[in-house]
Amino acid sequence: MTYRIYPNKAQFDQLHWARKMHCDLYNAAMANRRTQYKRFGHSVNYLEQQNCLPEFKKVWIEYAELGSHTLQATLKRVDFAYKRFFQGLGKYPKFKAKRRYSGWTYPDQAGWKALSNGKNGYLELRDLGLKIQMRGQARTWGTPTTCTIFFRNGKWYASITVQCNPIRQTGTGSIGIDLGCKDAVTLSTGEKIAKPDFIKEGHKKVKVVSKRLRRKRPPNRNKKVKGSRRWKKEQKRISELQGKISRQREDWLHKTTSEIVSGNSLIGGEQLNVKGMTRKANKGKRKKQKAGLNRSILDVGFGIVGDLLSYKSAEAGGFYVESPTRTLKPTQRCAKCWELTPKTLSDRVHICSNPDCKHVEDRDVNAAQVNEIWARGLERTSLDAELPSSTDCGSMKQLGAQKRQKQRLQRSKSL
Ligand SMILES: [Zn+2]
Repeated sequence: MTYRIYPNKAQFDQLHWARKMHCDLYNAAMANRRTQYKRFGHSVNYLEQQNCLPEFKKVWIEYAELGSHTLQATLKRVDFAYKRFFQGLGKYPKFKAKRRYSGWTYPDQAGWKALSNGKNGYLELRDLGLKIQMRGQARTWGTPTTCTIFFRNGKWYASITVQCNPIRQTGTGSIGIDLGCKDAVTLSTGEKIAKPDFIKEGHKKVKVVSKRLRRKRPPNRNKKVKGSRRWKKEQKRISELQGKISRQREDWLHKTTSEIVSGNSLIGGEQLNVKGMTRKANKGKRKKQKAGLNRSILDVGFGIVGDLLSYKSAEAGGFYVESPTRTLKPTQRCAKCWELTPKTLSDRVHICSNPDCKHVEDRDVNAAQVNEIWARGLERTSLDAELPSSTDCGSMKQLGAQKRQKQRLQRSKSL
């Protein structure tokens, strides 16, 4: 749950000071890892850095003011960046510029308090001695566990996680979904949810302002030229617009996913490789086309649809499962006879190539139906589909067991 916080001028400066301090610590920890490795071939781990903190605070006494758990959390961020790199998930971690550093985290209940019952209230940050007004509304409220303070688009926010007893309800139906570029979400019932207009509108506005921005004098840090006042003004305008678009998008995603969850206890989606899908096309004509596709994928925020559905259905006591897109091929498989019909991106209708079936259905609806069927564990062939692996829903294992049982039953029936 993210709240916007409204610091006054003095508090605002203090928050920025703390952000700078955390950024410095982040970069120092990064430098420590780099030099230790380069000079002595020694890879520093998180624990080593954490144990240095008390000494560190003696030398840089300013850090004594900040909560020690928050400093540890910042070191964890460094650790996390390196772990991602070692696992091949990210690039080699870079130093972060102060103006790009987002904020810091209170990893447990120490050092801060939310004086709120889920609605507007105050946020107390004990290490900084601050009590800041905050606004927002949580759908469900419980015991606050962690708090992350961050600065984005000129505004301060507090992201608070709470442990709560959810009150989400779900229907008994099952449904399949397909995410696409033309219609954002297609349901197996044939219903299509269009991409919201505000995204396109927002981008138009950003384009207009960017054009104005290009006519103003930008800063050049190498030549030590500051940006003109008008440049700053336009820059601010752009970040406000982008902030607005991202808030609207988030709102839309929450509403859409909540609606899907509220009617269905079993939801079949598909594994999306957003990173792969949005990878830049380097050569030829496809470049522009791919850029457009990327824009629409990122616009709608598909990357988090799966996460939202997963936690929301878990809260409601339902299940969200993702089909293995590569082996199942929902866009090519026929929802009626389960045969594969190859298609290109531009084929919008599924016409089954199986002469006994000849099933005709909208491409996306068909794919959503395939996902639903897969989710219900009713594959008609002995296709060895992998079981969903990465969902943080605790009862996933149960469902997996159920699924395997069903598969076994089916196999024994067909024998
Ligand atoms: Zn067919």
